[in-house]
Amino acid sequence: MSPPPMNRFFLKTFGCQMNFAESARLKTWLVGSGFEETDDPEKADLLIFNSCGVRRSAEERLFGHIASLQRRKGPRLFCLAGCVANLRGEEIFRTHPFIDILCSGSRLSELPALYFEAKEKGRASALGEGLPSFVSSLPAAQGIFCPVSITKGCENYCSYCVVPYARGKLVSKPADDVAAEVRGMVERGIRSFLLLGQNVNEYGRDVKDSGGFPPLLGNIAAMEGVLRLSFLTSHPKDTGEDLFLVMARHGNINRYLHMPIQSASDGVLRRMNRRYTLGDYERTVASARLLVPDISIGTDIIVGFPGETSEDFDETLRFLDRMKFEDVFIFQYSERPGTAAARQFKDDVPPAEKQRRHELALSLQTRIMQRKKEESFGTTYEVLIERHAEKSAGHLIGRTLMGTAVLFPGNGSLGPGDLTTVTVTGVKKGYRYGEMRQEKPSPCPPSHQSVLERLSSRTKRGISGGGNE
Ligand code: SAH
Ligand code: SF4
Repeated sequence: MSPPPMNRFFLKTFGCQMNFAESARLKTWLVGSGFEETDDPEKADLLIFNSCGVRRSAEERLFGHIASLQRRKGPRLFCLAGCVANLRGEEIFRTHPFIDILCSGSRLSELPALYFEAKEKGRASALGEGLPSFVSSLPAAQGIFCPVSITKGCENYCSYCVVPYARGKLVSKPADDVAAEVRGMVERGIRSFLLLGQNVNEYGRDVKDSGGFPPLLGNIAAMEGVLRLSFLTSHPKDTGEDLFLVMARHGNINRYLHMPIQSASDGVLRRMNRRYTLGDYERTVASARLLVPDISIGTDIIVGFPGETSEDFDETLRFLDRMKFEDVFIFQYSERPGTAAARQFKDDVPPAEKQRRHELALSLQTRIMQRKKEESFGTTYEVLIERHAEKSAGHLIGRTLMGTAVLFPGNGSLGPGDLTTVTVTGVKKGYRYGEMRQEKPSPCPPSHQSVLERLSSRTKRGISGGGNE
């Protein structure tokens, strides 16, 4: 007798890093629960769409995609998971009757049970918060890299943003659990970690006597086997010297800070409820660049927020030109139902004007990044090898401490998980291209050491920092 056929699932992810990390964990969970993954939606019994509701365009792409598959749906079950399921609720069953299962991002562990319930009863849903469990403790590793969620939810209520409504209250994962998760991954050969949260700098705010994010970062950085550690995202109102001191002290923490400004106009920032001014932001960047001299900084910009004038936008352009960011994500404002901005302000910047501002900001940033790329030629970087290049035989792909991917010819003896140094010589296939140097990289670049010496008297006075000191 042949064994019973496996239930096959197809998973498509929309949106942010956090969604991709959750999807990776969901895969592990479903496979562990007896499902089999397929990359062909036609062969799947269950199609899962892990959605993002942050911008209208992402939501439109999601529904367009589901509609294209719906015509030949047959007996397959469709599950809408993540933010959009939570935001729209069971009304989805009415507006999109071909969806059979709704599952919020916090309750992905219930999906196997929901699948069998929907097979029996036609429909099933698990919305809202559920148990405060982190399915996130499941591995989401790809190669030598693994994202680790340290918080979920957000209570900042930036006026344009649906995340507080879609993902609920801030809940921090206990520091011991984060450490145990990382330790388990190190034992399995993972070398590079990304600590994830909507605003990692608020880590622990919901827990009495928590030391906050900088000590957690320091503790994880000090763990044996952690060769690289990065974090995402940092809200400017909560980012400061205590974080930069920990970064300066640990040579394995990526020299990269993603700190969205959204707009350089104080009036727009006020209406966005961001709770900092342009001056505050610039002071924080100056402090980051002083304490961590080779730091790369990235940001997000929203163009066309209600009431954004040409002068406001010009202020943002001048700011981008001054700051010379490593990367900038530019979004056109889209009104999201239920947010304060949707209630209080008229979406009054015409679509064509949003598009024009988007293009102007993008072309300025493209020029800045091109110049930065050229400036990197001839520079030698410490690189953690991530994988063998698929399309360039004998080549490896690694990442610098600033998070930049580099392509270079291998030497046959080093492979994924090894550290090396690479001198960048040009650009190839969209990557910085370089040559491997044989000498061993120093664990902490000299520039950091001199800054640390200058700062040692201040840190001794007890500014919070890494956990092993
Ligand atoms: N938690 C992160 C970002 C979350 S969403 C933070 O606080 O920075 C990622 C980005 O999407 C935001 O930084 C913002 O630039 C953009 N975004 C969020 N809501 C938006 C909206 N309604 N319209 C356009 N862009 C938006
Ligand atoms: Fe949204 Fe603001 Fe929270 Fe970021 S900090 S998730 S932009 S509400």
